[in-house]
Amino acid sequence: MQGNMMFQPLLISNLIVHAARYHGDTAIISKNTDGTITTTNWTHVAENSKRFANALADLGAVHADRIATIAWNNHRHLEAWYAISGSGMVCHTINPRLFPEQLIFIINDAQDKVVLFDKTFLPLIRAVKAHTPTVEHFICLSAFDQEVVDALPDVKFYDALIADHSAQFEWPSFDENTASSLCYTSGTTGNPKGALYSHRSTILHTYAICLPDSLNLSANHVMLPVVPMFHVNAWGTPYAAAMVGCTFVLPGPGLDGASLVQMIDDYDVTVALGVPTIWQGLLSAAKQCGSKLATLKRNVVGGSACPPAMMKAFRDLYDCETIHAWGMTEMSPLGTSNQLKAKHHKLSADEQLNVRLSQGRPPFGVDLRITDEENGTHEVVRDGHSTGNLQVKGHWIIESYYGKPNNALTTDGWFDTGDIASINEDGYLLLSDRAKDLIKSGGEWISSVELENIAMSHPEIAMAAVIAATHPKWDERPVVIAIKQQGSDVTEEDILNYYADKIAKWQIPDKVIFVDSIPLTGTGKMLKKDLRDQYGSVLLEN
Ligand code: ADP
Repeated sequence: MQGNMMFQPLLISNLIVHAARYHGDTAIISKNTDGTITTTNWTHVAENSKRFANALADLGAVHADRIATIAWNNHRHLEAWYAISGSGMVCHTINPRLFPEQLIFIINDAQDKVVLFDKTFLPLIRAVKAHTPTVEHFICLSAFDQEVVDALPDVKFYDALIADHSAQFEWPSFDENTASSLCYTSGTTGNPKGALYSHRSTILHTYAICLPDSLNLSANHVMLPVVPMFHVNAWGTPYAAAMVGCTFVLPGPGLDGASLVQMIDDYDVTVALGVPTIWQGLLSAAKQCGSKLATLKRNVVGGSACPPAMMKAFRDLYDCETIHAWGMTEMSPLGTSNQLKAKHHKLSADEQLNVRLSQGRPPFGVDLRITDEENGTHEVVRDGHSTGNLQVKGHWIIESYYGKPNNALTTDGWFDTGDIASINEDGYLLLSDRAKDLIKSGGEWISSVELENIAMSHPEIAMAAVIAATHPKWDERPVVIAIKQQGSDVTEEDILNYYADKIAKWQIPDKVIFVDSIPLTGTGKMLKKDLRDQYGSVLLEN
């Protein structure tokens, strides 16, 4: 017997209809590519998304076409997102920090028909245009701009298309399993691979990330996604913002600490999301300018492990609760987030901090397990100590990569994340490392993340990466690549001594190399592969 309830497909267009109807005058504040600010609201975003949906149809784009965006977090990008997915096309967000060859690969792999771009990325567009034959239209996300026309004569402008098209548009209804957006992994290991999300997976993921035990979002909030829309859909925040109808602050190109402090203070941001390197920049900028980040109640840290010193700084200096979250492109991205359980309330503040440092628990809709082999099926115990290969399963987790016929799962249907982790009795996940970043010393594994966290808790270290360097006797030994705080004269010996009472002696790194900068990936993570290429042989010298 079937239930008697209505069936409505879970569609992304429902989100923007809901936001416009119930939160129409709620503000969306957007920093434009030229640095100016536009203040709009959900009503206008919804109207413009319909105008742009009409424009796309006029340009000949149809259901299932891939429409690419190479753009900052701003209101035009947001409107275009809803127009594309809402019309049944696939919104393909592209990371502009990739090399032109990777961009060309991705655009051709996706066979994008239209590319939307912010003016910042004009040089990139010029570099790839001749090599992307499927692209029929390039649209600059701005008003008319002669400089852009001079560089790209057949370009179209978003504002003109909006002005020329009506806001009368019926969002089409279709199967909720229809593809909605496409995001490529960063390709740090081989060519990037596409994760193709569906309307259903996106809506279910959106419900899950709003939950109190996830990111705890509501109409009460002013949300600032620092994580870019090209980094796994800004972790789903543009959908969540519409679902809960919160005020949305889009930082545009201003991702440096000083610009973020100003955005937070000017627009009373209550919750902000980003990777650790972003928060490092924000903490130094806030210290420098004396801001108390008074309205910021909560920040979400994900993408890389949150160093304990960072969580402590937010708590002690800014009374800001840090939510540590873990996920990946293949998971839409949310896998876990760290919130306490009732039983943790009686713990001291420092004991609570200790709980909060792990990557947290999965929401309903994601299941986790640890196996004793990569792509294996034998689960290890959930005791908080036994580590192994982290695998996941759930409504918003990839089954196969875009254009690749084979399913990417284990024989019993789980996705192997490539991360090494343990799960404790309370269901909290603790990531040791990515499998490829672990250091294998004399047959024992050392976690690079643990060593980085210690280095970064040293008051005179601004950033640190720990890599495996080849060693003639032990195979691999840890080496720290670190940036000193401004004006510090801390020495290698100081740092090595600092490790002495914090970890077992055999885990203490062999060497510390001070550098002025550490290369970052397109999504702001430390690019350890490049560091390994550069410094992987330092222990073989002499
Ligand atoms: P990539 O880093 O390859 O660009 P993703 O952005 O999808 O791709 O990153 C996913 C990976 O990032 C995870 O598999 C994990 O290794 C790492 N990661 C994400 N969040 C965390 C976290 N909170 N702690 C540690 N590692 C994390």
